[in-house]
Amino acid sequence: MPELPDVETFRRYARRRGLHKRIKDVEIVDERILDDIPPRTFQAKLRGRTLDSAVRHGKYLFLTAGDTPVLLMHFGMTGKLAYAKGEHEDEKYDKIRLRFEDEHALIYQCRRLLGKVGLVGAIDEAVEALELGPDALAVSAKAFKDLLSSSPGMVKSVLMDQKRIAGIGNIYSDEILFHAGLHPRKTCKELSDNEIGNLYRALNEVLKTAVDVKADPSSLPNDYLLTHRSKEGKCPRCGGSVRAITVGGRRAWYCPSRQS
Ligand SMILES: [Zn+2]
Repeated sequence: MPELPDVETFRRYARRRGLHKRIKDVEIVDERILDDIPPRTFQAKLRGRTLDSAVRHGKYLFLTAGDTPVLLMHFGMTGKLAYAKGEHEDEKYDKIRLRFEDEHALIYQCRRLLGKVGLVGAIDEAVEALELGPDALAVSAKAFKDLLSSSPGMVKSVLMDQKRIAGIGNIYSDEILFHAGLHPRKTCKELSDNEIGNLYRALNEVLKTAVDVKADPSSLPNDYLLTHRSKEGKCPRCGGSVRAITVGGRRAWYCPSRQS
């Protein structure tokens, strides 16, 4: 499921491929992906326009075309972007194609219909309407501490709560807690100032490292937990077995000997 590092990778891809070119046509392959906008309106508002910036907030990507409208994309469980002309990989999952004058298209693909594509008036309005907290990579140490101190509940659930801090999901919350040495069921109230500081550093290090490797798990450093999240998984730091428990309805993987 795309989290901040994946969506940041899509943002950079969209910026490299889709900006500063006139949209000749808007091909709606599956209108069910549209978020509360009639297909014809969606097409009419984007046709002839030129995308000029790509902005991410949490797991949302916004592509602007002048002042308005702003194209919003959320990737759900399986969404991604492609750029192609003619036949291409995973073509059967194409939902929306922004076709440029050179016949290449920036394509929103999704295997399952859990993502969405829509138009909004402005990015800050959309962030407010979606009730998103600050972007996880834009939170200051002080704001992070205030946020945790005022949050009831378990740390993992708070990290994943998009209304408190936007961008982190199940996989990267596990990774961040692993690096901070914190048990996933630990509550925010139980954290010392020192632990909050470690958690803040872990959050930044993990997310930035994942962005650097374009969110490709196989390219992460060897001591990352991500690829060991399975029944047979061994902790990449101590070699012990990793364990799964349920936290806030989600499956959390962790190392019992390193996280307390
Ligand atoms: Zn371990």
